[in-house]
Amino acid sequence: MPELPPLAWGLILAALVVGILAGHFGWGRRWPALRKFNADYLTGLDYLVSEQPDRALDTFLKLIDANADTLETHFALGALYRRRGEVDRAIRIHRSLLAREGLAPEHREQALLALAQDHLRAGLLDRAEGLFQQVCEVGRLRATALDALRGIYERQHDWAQALDMHRRLASAGAPPPRAVAAHYACELATLALDRGEIAEARRLLRQARSETGGFARAAILRAQIAEREAQPELAARLLKWAVVMAPQVLEDELPHLLRLVDGDARDGLLAELVARAQSRDFIELKRLVFAALAARLAHAEPLRGPLEQVFSRDPALHTVWQAAGPAPFERIASELAALLALAERYRCGECGFAGRKFYWQCPGCHSWDSFEAYATVKLH
Ligand SMILES: [Zn+2]
Repeated sequence: MPELPPLAWGLILAALVVGILAGHFGWGRRWPALRKFNADYLTGLDYLVSEQPDRALDTFLKLIDANADTLETHFALGALYRRRGEVDRAIRIHRSLLAREGLAPEHREQALLALAQDHLRAGLLDRAEGLFQQVCEVGRLRATALDALRGIYERQHDWAQALDMHRRLASAGAPPPRAVAAHYACELATLALDRGEIAEARRLLRQARSETGGFARAAILRAQIAEREAQPELAARLLKWAVVMAPQVLEDELPHLLRLVDGDARDGLLAELVARAQSRDFIELKRLVFAALAARLAHAEPLRGPLEQVFSRDPALHTVWQAAGPAPFERIASELAALLALAERYRCGECGFAGRKFYWQCPGCHSWDSFEAYATVKLH
């Protein structure tokens, strides 16, 4: 057995003490029974200490049959095994509980939920799905089970089912953030676009917008449709709105946006983006400058002033600026652009997952809208 961290030992001991005290105080066990009960628990603990986890588990499982008052202790032990990744042992505990005769309905339901969580932890998604569907029938556990199912369907990229779970959670009074439902609709719209089903994609994007206002992802997809339908002005308008609403996509979408605009109108568009960023805060301006550098736009006239402003105000960039000495500004900008092209460009604000590609949902921790332009954040 791998060495237990102190917290795990604390939890095991706490579980045992709870079991012992429950046996003594909660249900008024008589002393001789308590002594036997304590002895059995201590034997189990001794097996744990002497690194014989399976013998320890056998001892604890026997106690399930012998003692009606130790259920919570076993639930605590099962949860502890699951957290430690020893899912087989957690499953044995919860199956033993379920097999017990005369188990009260609420304990049976709790054991079923725990067994579903064990299978989820083990990555056995199909089995976990079936168990959570059974738990859904239990009113007091329905929201927990529906949310777990929503997570399973997300992991399987079954966006239609995930959206259905979102709706059912809303009906159960426990809705996840509406932006999550909008993302599901956008995932489905992306698949519809891939199949060439434009009308279906439009319908899903309307649905996404109805879930939450100001949803940039839907506008980016709608811009793709406009571009396919030879409406570059509409596509540019949508994209411009999207990069203002969701500046984290600026680096990816700015080159795309500029491709949609005629040469003469480009400077006007850039000047508008600069003015908007300047009216917000410095990090917005820096984000725009980094996106412009990555897009090799350092030479564009409307960006010249902001580039110098960012380079002189930002401490880290100012050092680079000074170290470069009399080197031409364009050369420094070009070298920074080359560095940006090689760097990790995005990072998840929740788990730190970093990469060169932007994700609406983090592949590491599955959070939505957690990606940020890394270079901008790092140098902030
Ligand atoms: Zn993450």
